[in-house]
Amino acid sequence: MEKPYVVGIDLGGTNTVFGVVDARGTILHSGSIKTGKHADISDYIAELAKGLEVVIERAGGHSKIKGIGIGAPNGNYFNGCIEFAANLPWKGKIPLAQLISEKLNGLPVTLTNDANAAAIGEMTYGAARGMKDFIVITLGTGVGSGIVIGGNLVYGHDGFAGELGHVITRRQNGRMCGCGREGCLEAYTSATGVARTAREYLAIRKDESVLRELNPDEITSKDVYDAAMKNDKIALEIFETTGHMLGEAFADFIAFSSPEAIILFGGLTKAGDLIMKPIKESLDKNILNAFAGKTKLLFSQLKESDAAVLGASALGWEVKDPSTTI
Ligand SMILES: [Zn+2]
Repeated sequence: MEKPYVVGIDLGGTNTVFGVVDARGTILHSGSIKTGKHADISDYIAELAKGLEVVIERAGGHSKIKGIGIGAPNGNYFNGCIEFAANLPWKGKIPLAQLISEKLNGLPVTLTNDANAAAIGEMTYGAARGMKDFIVITLGTGVGSGIVIGGNLVYGHDGFAGELGHVITRRQNGRMCGCGREGCLEAYTSATGVARTAREYLAIRKDESVLRELNPDEITSKDVYDAAMKNDKIALEIFETTGHMLGEAFADFIAFSSPEAIILFGGLTKAGDLIMKPIKESLDKNILNAFAGKTKLLFSQLKESDAAVLGASALGWEVKDPSTTI
C-alpha cells in the first residue's frame, strides 16, 4: 500500500492526543499537548503541528500518510470548522481542518465532533461492533454524544446533530452551562458538573466528608471518586444523583432512536457501578413501556485515549469529496 497510515487527533478541553494508525487499527506512534494553555489558536496549531511532524516522521514521513482525522468539540464534519465550542479557549468559528492542513503541506484533514469520533471508534474496534443502532455518550470535561442510526452516524443537515449533552434536564433554577443556557445535562453530569455538585453539597450541608479536607475550588471528579471508594456518604450521594439524572435523560434518548445500546465513554466511567447502578435504576423507572429492558447499557471497551484517536483516524481513510473536505 502506497500510503499505509492515517493520523487521528483527539482534541479535548484539557489535552490533545494524536497518533499514527495503521489499517488494522494499531496506534504506532503517539503524542499529546495541552489544549487549554493556548489562548491563541495559532500558538495551538503551531505546537500541534510540531508534535504531528514528530510522529509522522517516525512513521516514515508525509508520503506514508493518507489523511488526518480530528475529533473535536463542536467539530463540523461538513465544513471542517470548530464552531462555538463551550469548553475550548477559542471563540467563534475556527477553520481547524484548513489550518492544520496548511501547516502540514496540504495533507487532507477531516473533522468531526469528539463524540462522533468516539462512536466511529466504538463501531470499528469496540463495544458497538456489529451494531447498527446505538448511542455513545461521552462523560468527560463536557458531555457529548454520537448517534448511529441504521449504521450511519447522524450529522443532521448542518453537521451538528447529536448534542445530547445540551438537552435541558432542569427547567427550574437550572445550572448555568458553558453553552450559555441553563439546566443542560452537561452542567450536572460532566466531570466538571460532578465537581460542581460536590461544591454545592459541601456548602449547604453540615455532615462530615473527607472532601472537606480539600480546597473546594480545586475539587475534581477524581477526588469525588476517591472519596466514594472510601465510602464517603456525600461522595456516594453525588454519584447516585448524577447517575439518576443520566438515567432520566437516557429514557428520553431511547424514545427518540430506539438504540440497541447506549455506550458510556470517558473519564467518569471509571466510577463503574457507582455511576451505572443509579443510571439503570432511574432508566428502568422512566423508560416508556414499549422500550423497557430492550437497550443495553455498556461501558466502552476501548482505552479512553485510544478510542478517540482511533475513531478520529478512521476519518482519515475516507475517500474525499471535494465539497466537504479541505
Ligand atoms: Zn449547555
